[in-house]
Amino acid sequence: MSAGLLLVLSGPSGVGKGTICRRLIERDPTLYLSISMTTRPPRIGEKEGKDYFFVSEERFLQLIAQDELLEWARVYSYYYGTPLGPVVEARTAGRDVVLEIDVQGGFKVREKVPDSILIFILPPSLEELRARLTQRGTESGAAVEERLRWAQKELSFYRNYDYAIVNERVEDVVGKINAIRTAEKCRPRYL
Ligand code: 5GP
Repeated sequence: MSAGLLLVLSGPSGVGKGTICRRLIERDPTLYLSISMTTRPPRIGEKEGKDYFFVSEERFLQLIAQDELLEWARVYSYYYGTPLGPVVEARTAGRDVVLEIDVQGGFKVREKVPDSILIFILPPSLEELRARLTQRGTESGAAVEERLRWAQKELSFYRNYDYAIVNERVEDVVGKINAIRTAEKCRPRYL
């Protein structure tokens, strides 16, 4: 049995990565969605072990020192990282794995796992992104502005990714990601 694919999904905050991931899993429950560690406090409705593992900064630094993270990055004022063990376990069992991480993390994964597949999700426009972030209502006005500044910086990296998909309709994006998975599995190294 060949190892599962390692798919990295990045894109600016508010672009719809969370919804895309949920739909991917609904369509294919064998897909493993990695749950990140973060030092960010939980938002209303977020659940420990489902959305994130919420940890202290001290614990996070300990995980880095023990080499237990596949990658990590500081995004906004918080640490975010991917626990290594579950990713290795799922891939070894032949499951495709999805990481929903920022571009700094994406490039770190590419260094460590050269055959990882980097997919960037683009908003239809910056105005649309601002509207989505504001409607989501999970951030204050200042935090929305900070996220938009980051978004513009992140967007400048999309050409370094393997694939870029504009999120006009979630169902279309999910279809395209599944088409990428099918195509990647036809590469001779997976046979
Ligand atoms: P949020 O605070 O909105 O949940 O996430 C903020 C940003 O951190 C998003 O761009 C998200 O993709 C990124 N992120 C979430 N988990 C990880 C992770 O494990 N590693 C990295 N590098 N970025 C992450």
